[in-house]
Amino acid sequence: MSRILVVEDESAIAELIAINLRHAGHEITLAASAEQAQSEVDAQLPDLVVLDWMLPGQSGLALARQWRADTRTKELPIILLTARAAEQDKVSGLDAGADDYLTKPFSTNELMARIRAVLRRKVPEALDEAVEIAGLRLDPATRRVSHRERELKLGPTEFRLLHFLMKHPERVHSRSNLLDRVWGDHVFIEERTVDVHIKRLREALSPAGCSGMLETVRGAGYRLTGQASAAVG
Ligand code: CA
Repeated sequence: MSRILVVEDESAIAELIAINLRHAGHEITLAASAEQAQSEVDAQLPDLVVLDWMLPGQSGLALARQWRADTRTKELPIILLTARAAEQDKVSGLDAGADDYLTKPFSTNELMARIRAVLRRKVPEALDEAVEIAGLRLDPATRRVSHRERELKLGPTEFRLLHFLMKHPERVHSRSNLLDRVWGDHVFIEERTVDVHIKRLREALSPAGCSGMLETVRGAGYRLTGQASAAVG
């Protein structure tokens, strides 16, 4: 399940989008202006924003530019909606940092497909799709983790941590990045907390012999790899 912010001043369109997204299992917040959208984003970073270009006051395009210029929101996935179909407008929209662009009128099926594509590319852990690496399988829909049919018991934080690492494997993640992406960017906790949960996660994986998949990269952070499993698993 992902948190999606829909920024649209035409309430009929906003409601239609919200109904469809909720039906698809997403958690929806609505905003009718750029100011309202900004305060929602200040309160909690959504996984994706569906942003209308034409808004009363500040435009969606200006808001997208503003978000791209801010460290906290520069990676925020944005799908821009617009009634404009001119090529130059599309270019301006993508230049402003939108990940995708949809011209009104659009079908809700097309919007859903675009949302899934952007989420898969930028925040794959927000989709409820199972992931398997070197025999280790995590299924967000059933909240189960198993290794070659053997079920493993994980606490809720270890589950979220493993989910994020498995969706972004073979890459080194710093402790602060893990705090932002797994715990939430408004949570102020010590980086040592990450080490505690990594240790617990290794312990939870050890009955299946795959704790070695979780590597410590000195001075940098942690990495989940499918390559080490042959040696330990
Ligand atoms: Ca509008």
